[in-house]
Amino acid sequence: MDYSGRQSRLAALLREQGLDSVLVTHVPNIRYLCGFTGSAGVLAISAAGKARKAAFFTDGRYTQQASEEVDGAKVVISKTAAIVGAVEWLKRQSKLKSVGVEAEHMSVATRASLGKYAGSIRLQPTSGLIEGLRAVKEKAEIEQIRSAVELASRVFEAVRTNIRPGAQESAIAAEIEYMSRRLGAEGMSFDTLVAAGKRSALPHGVASQNPLPKRGFVILDFGVILGGYCSDMTRTVYLGQPSRAERKMYESVLEAQLAGIKAVTPGAKCAEVDRATRNVLEKAGLGRYFTHSTGHGVGIEIHEMPGIRKAAKPTKGKKRMAARARKSAGAQFDTLVPGMVITIEPGVYIPGEGGVRIEDMVVVTETGCEVLTPTPKEMIVI
Ligand code: ZN
Ligand code: ZN
Repeated sequence: MDYSGRQSRLAALLREQGLDSVLVTHVPNIRYLCGFTGSAGVLAISAAGKARKAAFFTDGRYTQQASEEVDGAKVVISKTAAIVGAVEWLKRQSKLKSVGVEAEHMSVATRASLGKYAGSIRLQPTSGLIEGLRAVKEKAEIEQIRSAVELASRVFEAVRTNIRPGAQESAIAAEIEYMSRRLGAEGMSFDTLVAAGKRSALPHGVASQNPLPKRGFVILDFGVILGGYCSDMTRTVYLGQPSRAERKMYESVLEAQLAGIKAVTPGAKCAEVDRATRNVLEKAGLGRYFTHSTGHGVGIEIHEMPGIRKAAKPTKGKKRMAARARKSAGAQFDTLVPGMVITIEPGVYIPGEGGVRIEDMVVVTETGCEVLTPTPKEMIVI
């Protein structure tokens, strides 16, 4: 992975924002910028002047791991708290005036205690700086994600035979997670969702101890982590004989999903892609049962930028805030660009009856998009 390239893109972004350094505390961002896969540490990057310098601070538990993994930063095993070591190091760099801190990833307590150490350096909250860089994937990242997606598809094929009336939702989830590990996954992207029958109307139905019914939809939503990158897929199968209305419901969600994929092209607004899936379901009279957004970015984390959702309408009083938000790095990602990896996952959930969701991962290409998920989407009736 191109850590040096990532750090220099970040340095350019810092200068744009009038910052000359940054304290990176969010672990996925640390991994992205220097390759460290452990769970504790702070990365300090100074971009003052022409020379960029980076130092990674962690504790004694990670001495060997950090020396093996960290690329593009000096490793310091800190005797004090890593963040204090990082601030002290920044203070020793010449001409530093302002340090960006990750507002979403720093506790109020840490921010308060840092004030004591910062001296004359101004601590400036930033939002989505590195997350914005991460939204557009490099080739090697896309290939890593592709491997994770393909592994999950193999898992789905392998566990399909376990889906039958009477089997517990939690047992199906266990099979999915066991098979994922057997096939080499490092872990799951999130708690596996298995929701059957009336529970399939829960968009976020975590597997319960309920047995699968004789008749009804079963939503399976899961993802694996491979090489540090997440996958995410949903398929909905039907147990027993579906009614005409249920078949129609499935076909409508599939049609919406295909319309969403068709709308994914460089330059398209995320809100337009969301509109494309919503239009189909509204026409089918199911619009009000589609209660979440169309999709999200996926990468080192399961939910990344961009969000494939309706554009936020700023109200009058919030105009200034919205303008400021647009200036922040993340907000410019309301438009698709090649290299973004997103999900397209419309769903319909009818309370007391059941639900359907179909989710694939796609990568935005120069000319449109490529669907990464190889699993077929025709209705599976068991
Ligand atoms: Zn999912
Ligand atoms: Zn998803």
